[in-house]
Amino acid sequence: MSHRRSLRFSQSTCPVCGGKEVARDDLKGDLLCTNCGHIVTRTESRSVGKFDIAQHLKRNGKMTFPRLKEVTGASDDKLFGVLSGMESMDLVTQLAGQYSLTKKGQRWYRQRLGQEWGY
Ligand SMILES: [Zn+2]
Repeated sequence: MSHRRSLRFSQSTCPVCGGKEVARDDLKGDLLCTNCGHIVTRTESRSVGKFDIAQHLKRNGKMTFPRLKEVTGASDDKLFGVLSGMESMDLVTQLAGQYSLTKKGQRWYRQRLGQEWGY
């Protein structure tokens, strides 16, 4: 019988100690080395932009972190980084684990959409 833990182990290797026991914290989206405690940020994962996230939120309304991850195909740390940036810019708001666009975020999205279409 295998041990079940709240942390899921990822494929990453710790750049500090070389340990393979790097676990994912589902709440924060961080990757944490269980050997030395280093927070590992992966750089090889698919990138995601603010516009992508805004687009999904505009279409679907409120979305959870796992759902956003699913639709964007981004890794936890990438997605978490962009969402944090958007939160600090007041473009998205998070309530009870669900992200949604703020009024400012919706304006920002419309402006960006206009640029995409060359208006
Ligand atoms: Zn380590």
